[in-house]
Amino acid sequence: MDKPRGSLDNLIEEFAGLPGIGRKSAQRLAYFVIHMPEEQVKHFADTLIATRKNVRYCKECLTLTDQELCPICASTKRNHRQIMVVENSRDLEAYEKTGKYEGVYHVLHGAISPMTGISAADIKIKELLVRLQRDVDEVIIATNSSVEGETTAMYLSKLIKPSGIKVTRIASGVPVGGDIENIDEVTLLRALEGRMEL
Ligand code: ZN
Repeated sequence: MDKPRGSLDNLIEEFAGLPGIGRKSAQRLAYFVIHMPEEQVKHFADTLIATRKNVRYCKECLTLTDQELCPICASTKRNHRQIMVVENSRDLEAYEKTGKYEGVYHVLHGAISPMTGISAADIKIKELLVRLQRDVDEVIIATNSSVEGETTAMYLSKLIKPSGIKVTRIASGVPVGGDIENIDEVTLLRALEGRMEL
């Protein structure tokens, strides 16, 4: 039978369940927490709960936001006829950091991966098609240059092109297999500016 665990062990278990946190790191974090002022721990815990409760998908682009519409979709300064399709909200943030993209986004929350059984129905493609029924001039496909990202780009291009909407793919300045979220702003901007029509 398992011996009853104390609070500290429970905390270590919680940290160890997080992605990228090994046993050693979990211990280090738990010890750090027990030495934090109680007020600060409370603030940390409250932030966790509030974030989980308030953050949701933007009803337009499906990025993570506190509001019904994210600030980008709500902005009248953005070009709502140009939609950049990205795999996740971190990629959106990466493109936002360039400060040069004036269109809006669509977050797929994944990519098609026959290897791991993720199909087109498992990511937010249906929602994109609904948006494309309105006036849209261009869809920029900015999925990663991994096998999954390329498969998704091909799939989307075949799906969208018959509607007459211009479909472009960011240039290969993004290294093969490179995650967009880890690429510097200059490279991202070059990839965007050098995009090619599919
Ligand atoms: Zn949005």
